[in-house]
Amino acid sequence: MEKIAPQKAEKLVAVKGMNDILPGESARWEALESTVRSVMRSFAFENIRTPVVESTSLFVRGTGQSTDIVMKEMYSFDDRLNGEALTLRPENTPGVVRAAIEHNLTYDGGKRLYYMGPMFRHERPQRGRYRQFYQLGVEAIGFEGPEVDAEIILLAHALFKVLGLKNVRVELNSLGVTSERLAHRLALITYFEQFADLLDEDAKKRLHTNPLRILDTKNPVLKEIVRNAPMLIGFLGAESLARFDVVKTVLTACGVAWTVNPLLVRGLDYYSHTVFEFYTDELGSQGALIGGGRYDGLFELLGGKPTPAVGWGLGMERVLELLKTQGQVHAAHFPDAYAIVPNASALPVVLRCLQSLREQGVKVQMHASATPGVASMKSQFKKADASGAHFALIFGADEMAAGLITVKSLRDGVGEQATYPLSAVPHWAIKLQSRS
Ligand code: AMP
Repeated sequence: MEKIAPQKAEKLVAVKGMNDILPGESARWEALESTVRSVMRSFAFENIRTPVVESTSLFVRGTGQSTDIVMKEMYSFDDRLNGEALTLRPENTPGVVRAAIEHNLTYDGGKRLYYMGPMFRHERPQRGRYRQFYQLGVEAIGFEGPEVDAEIILLAHALFKVLGLKNVRVELNSLGVTSERLAHRLALITYFEQFADLLDEDAKKRLHTNPLRILDTKNPVLKEIVRNAPMLIGFLGAESLARFDVVKTVLTACGVAWTVNPLLVRGLDYYSHTVFEFYTDELGSQGALIGGGRYDGLFELLGGKPTPAVGWGLGMERVLELLKTQGQVHAAHFPDAYAIVPNASALPVVLRCLQSLREQGVKVQMHASATPGVASMKSQFKKADASGAHFALIFGADEMAAGLITVKSLRDGVGEQATYPLSAVPHWAIKLQSRS
């Protein structure tokens, strides 16, 4: 009979624009996440975790029908079992607001919330722009005053300071209230209509749906026209300006440098009053690190009670990239000790000892063979050395018979050894602890 050669299975790779975060790189993520948690605690922000999948209508209503995100970038699908229209979250402010309404989170006052997690947008992948990317976000909900706007900007500033990031600038603007935006909108439409022939396709589409977005243009010809367009800040009343002043004064008092960018309008529909971005010039065209602002109208838009709120979203990949660009390489995690296992019969004693060591806070890696059987001592020592551990734990037959263990230093250049009683791990564990 003719033999049919088995077909080689097709190699599967990750979806374009969605990345694996592998060991080594993940240590940097863990370090960032743990810094984030401690800074959040210092500002009394609490963690919230909402689903990655939400109803499509949440984003259509909450992010805005006319935004690029909703028009072009969402991963939307129908649930095969019940036909429900679902979307992988492209941002998490609508999700948090939905959860806050659903669980009446603000019944006893405002809440300061933060989250970290993946977001999904079908964009053209490039350095700093991915289709699955991670955002750290904060949302302070139920707070009306501008001091909270300032506080969350201070929080972001504090986080960057603890992380040791340099050369990040803060740009602010105020979008005022709806009536001010409407008056500005009309003036903007009238202004751009004079240049109807020069508007590109995008701008023509936006002229009557979302003319504010034309201010965001990347088109050099339009940029010239935008330069002389009426700016929203000129339409703000005394109250809006006074609010904006509070934010600016607090930031200055706390040593945060800022500039006002009257062209900063943010891509999403739901912002009002303070908007801001944090930028770096060190990441090329993907220099936006944080975008945020006040979104007092969103709760009502999503069917909730009127609730003032303000928040921001930070691109975690970009912050990690900037840390790397600025020369911050995080030390890899090495175990304190590497356990060399002489034979299978020793395993129960070995593992019991490792258990006690770990309970004492020692980081221990156990040797495990890639092939059946026990590897030679020589090969196990090689692995111990490569692991980066400071000590090898040697469970030799003679020592074990005497209830002892040999600890050999791998990093002192001379391989100094000591023996310790297996029955008294807590007494000597400290000698092995955390040098990495
Ligand atoms: P946005 O929700 O668009 O205001 O984005 C907030 C922050 O998330 C931005 O300032 C970026 O740092 C980051 N970000 C947005 N889109 C992406 C993306 N496609 N890939 C990586 N980071 C992103």
